[in-house]
Amino acid sequence: MTDAGFALAGPAPGSGTPLGRLAASRAYRRATAWLLWLFILGNGAGSIALWVDAGGLDATRSAGDIVTTIGRVTGMAGAYLALVQVVLLARLPWIERLAGFDRLTVWHRWNGKSALYLVVAHVIFTTVGYSLNDQISVWAEVQALLTTNYPGMWTATIGTALFVVVACSSYAIARRRLRYEVWYCIHFTAYASIALAWFHQIPTGSDLATLTVASDYWTSLYIATLALLVVFRVLVPLARTLAHGLRVSEVVQEGPGVVSLTITGRYLGALHAQAGQFFLWRFLTRGHWLESHPFSLSAAPDGRSLRITVKGMGNFTRKIAQDVRPGTRVVAEGPFGAFTTALRRRDRVVLIAGGIGITPVRALLEEMGGDVVVLYRAMRDEDVVFRDELDRIAAARGARIEYLVGDHATPEGARLLSTEHLCELLPDIAEREVYLCGPPAMTDAIEQNVRAAGVPRRALHVERFAI
Ligand SMILES: Cc1cc2nc3c(=O)[nH]c(=O)nc-3n(C[C@H](O)[C@H](O)[C@H](O)COP(=O)(O)OP(=O)(O)OC[C@H]3O[C@@H](n4cnc5c(N)ncnc54)[C@H](O)[C@@H]3O)c2cc1C
Repeated sequence: MTDAGFALAGPAPGSGTPLGRLAASRAYRRATAWLLWLFILGNGAGSIALWVDAGGLDATRSAGDIVTTIGRVTGMAGAYLALVQVVLLARLPWIERLAGFDRLTVWHRWNGKSALYLVVAHVIFTTVGYSLNDQISVWAEVQALLTTNYPGMWTATIGTALFVVVACSSYAIARRRLRYEVWYCIHFTAYASIALAWFHQIPTGSDLATLTVASDYWTSLYIATLALLVVFRVLVPLARTLAHGLRVSEVVQEGPGVVSLTITGRYLGALHAQAGQFFLWRFLTRGHWLESHPFSLSAAPDGRSLRITVKGMGNFTRKIAQDVRPGTRVVAEGPFGAFTTALRRRDRVVLIAGGIGITPVRALLEEMGGDVVVLYRAMRDEDVVFRDELDRIAAARGARIEYLVGDHATPEGARLLSTEHLCELLPDIAEREVYLCGPPAMTDAIEQNVRAAGVPRRALHVERFAI
């Protein structure tokens, strides 16, 4: 196990030191992220340039032509971003390592919104452009497009409607009202919407159907996206399941409604999992085959077993203790996440956990040395899990632990981890690397307090227990 913390307390930064190597690895991550975005943008621009080169703009004479052309370009850009959307969440390991699941989810959200706006712009501009050319009203043009035998129009309409429903269901207000499984099923139809977009764009689209090079290029983009999806979301998890033969070996009650599962299997070292990371877990037991849930490792992986600790919060997590027994087969996708010791650049660290957010923090504490403080916020004494383990590890590592227990509905509880309280507990907090994990409402509130205490954004790493 590497001990980044003890090493960090050593010499000043330089390329040969551990700190220097970490700085180099951050610079590498930043450079690769830029390259990735340049590649994505360049590829998008290239696919539109091919269309222009093949004569896509030749028919731009009237005002109607110009408006229609804007519609075509926004349509192509929207279709392209829809493909990027799939790639971003295709669980490509190097993209996961590069961005971290949290940042990828943010990129996915922004990219999805941009794709939606472009697709809507495509519909509006092409319809208005056609209506100008046909010299009829926009409404008459809509009716004409849907009733005359215009190729690919119905597939396009259904695809666009699905895309809009998927995007709307992801807006926070709608998302909060939907059960996760319902939201997920709706989200799944995005694949159907992209397939329908392909029919509209390539074989029947009035432009690309006739422009061979551009159409071949677009077809290869669709095929490459599909291939990445099949390989990384189906074949890799399947191969891993067969190779590792994961099974639950132990189920331990940690406290009221909190249970730890130990999972064993073959060649676990080959997973290259790190403390702070999580997997998507699927338990092959009656009633749960179809759902996979993200859970962080609650102990640093040792190559022989993986441990997760789950708090009963909803439909699945409340049933886990009774439904998942030793011997249950497990499919694990991952490891995911960049909430690891690799982010550490400062020799002083504070690990802040809210509620069940203690799971990756407990694992990170095991791997971190040097000046480490753990602030563990819980509502009630009985909600504190791993107290013995944490005390033992902290004593061995020379770390300090503060258990901050109290209901935030009371004035004393509300003060816990406020900016003033953070500064009292850690007068040097602004100079520390901060790792923060917990349920989203709690992390959002604490994140603001940590920033107000003077911690720069680059020294604050947040893992939210929500997708
Ligand atoms: C990166 C990450 C790490 C996590 N680590 C832990 C952990 O170590 N221990 C722990 O107890 N919890 C952890 N969680 C939270 C845990 O995944 C959810 O509490 C659990 O999936 C809820 O499922 P449910 O069916 O019991 O709840 P539900 O009542 O169905 O849903 C409650 C909420 O949980 C979320 N959720 C539900 N199902 C899923 C799913 N399949 N995938 C993603 N989110 C879902 C939704 O936001 C939903 O609103 C983690 C979450 C994330 C994102």
